[in-house]
Amino acid sequence: MTDQRPVLIAGGGIGGLTAAIAFGREAIESHVLERSAFDNEAGAGIQLGPNANRILGPLGVLDALMPKTFRPEAVRLFDGVSGKTLATMPLGDKAERRYGAPYLTAHRADLHEALRSVAASAGHVTLTPNFTVADIEDGDGITVASLDGSRVEGSALVGADGIWSTVRKWIAPQAGLAFTGATAFRSLLPLHRLPPPFSEPIVGLWLGPRTHLVHYPVRGGEALNVVAVTETGRKEDGWNRSAETGTVRANFTRWCETAQGLIESAQSWRAWSLFSLSALPHWHRGSVTLLGDAAHPVLPYLAQGAALAIEDAAKLAGLWGGARERPAHVFDAFETIRRARAERVRRTSQRLGRAYHMGGAGLDSMTLGSMARFARNAILGLRGEDATLRAFDWLYGEGR
Ligand SMILES: Cc1cc2nc3c(=O)[nH]c(=O)nc-3n(C[C@H](O)[C@H](O)[C@H](O)COP(=O)(O)OP(=O)(O)OC[C@H]3O[C@@H](n4cnc5c(N)ncnc54)[C@H](O)[C@@H]3O)c2cc1C
Repeated sequence: MTDQRPVLIAGGGIGGLTAAIAFGREAIESHVLERSAFDNEAGAGIQLGPNANRILGPLGVLDALMPKTFRPEAVRLFDGVSGKTLATMPLGDKAERRYGAPYLTAHRADLHEALRSVAASAGHVTLTPNFTVADIEDGDGITVASLDGSRVEGSALVGADGIWSTVRKWIAPQAGLAFTGATAFRSLLPLHRLPPPFSEPIVGLWLGPRTHLVHYPVRGGEALNVVAVTETGRKEDGWNRSAETGTVRANFTRWCETAQGLIESAQSWRAWSLFSLSALPHWHRGSVTLLGDAAHPVLPYLAQGAALAIEDAAKLAGLWGGARERPAHVFDAFETIRRARAERVRRTSQRLGRAYHMGGAGLDSMTLGSMARFARNAILGLRGEDATLRAFDWLYGEGR
């Protein structure tokens, strides 16, 4: 007889809530245990590639989110030092036709709220806020204890508790996050006050020595999300500490005036240290599995961490709904299917980070770095727009 107890989901972030909605579609009961009051989303933007939106659409999340999204027409690459345009990759209609779903940008809080409201009304889903998963017992099913001692039982546990996962410590206690030496500074600006190219309907990506800058509209085009990534900063947990404009500015002194002007326009910044994790030996143990950042955090250079969590959630629910087997078998199949994909995104993100930041420190390496930067810029300029988009077929076309 199948176990009637719900699947417990630790973490009601992007992957956890998507998993709950997707389980609901398979008529599988789930119970999301979230440490916050479901209101912990820091002020920052998120890019949602077609691979994520092909899943969020049928789950009903895009209906709730669409009015607050922005649909950029292109990604435009600039050299941060000279200010020159290097290349353009079309998005808009072209990407939507090619991949069967739009490329969108959004505020994380808007995405999170859309997921929460769809999950709350989905059926088969229980949402419990203010529950910090602190302990796990795997016996006849799973028992999870919170920090304050309350206990919940389920048939299995999905650890969707993000990069600092508690569930991961139970599955792979030896795995440790390593500080990459890079910090992402993030700010949100009113869009109507900004000049081109910041006011244009694009994702702007500016490349410079040991730094890069990304900007795109969010909130239906009312605000511009800006992310400045630098190979500096302190190792600190969490993604919501404040930073001075002067700290951000100090990393961009060699940059062109246009880009420096954007940094000056921002009133406040939040800083987020970037960490990496080597591939885990296994994502699951008994009736407990991981998904999303808990299993495979990726650097943000490909803007795909949330998309991977969304893909994981849909795949896990599909496998479970199809097989109704014992959790360990489903989790084994899930890991087999998803591991190579997550690893490819992880490695590509790392490689892109190195290419973005060419032209870095030291006199000798500065000369070499400048040459590398020149070569990178020349290669980028040679590629046609359509070829640039086609190079991402493996990413945005996943599962088509
Ligand atoms: C600068 C930057 C920019 C990014 N931009 C993009 C982008 O443009 N596109 C993209 O796809 N990705 C992007 N990402 C990555 C993306 O934010 C993450 O990959 C994504 O949020 C992972 O989703 P998740 O569900 O695994 O974790 P999260 O969304 O972090 O959710 C984890 C949840 O678990 C909860 N939790 C934690 N511990 C416990 C516990 N013990 N008990 C209960 N609950 C717990 C947390 O409160 C949280 O709600 C970016 C990342 C960075 C750093």
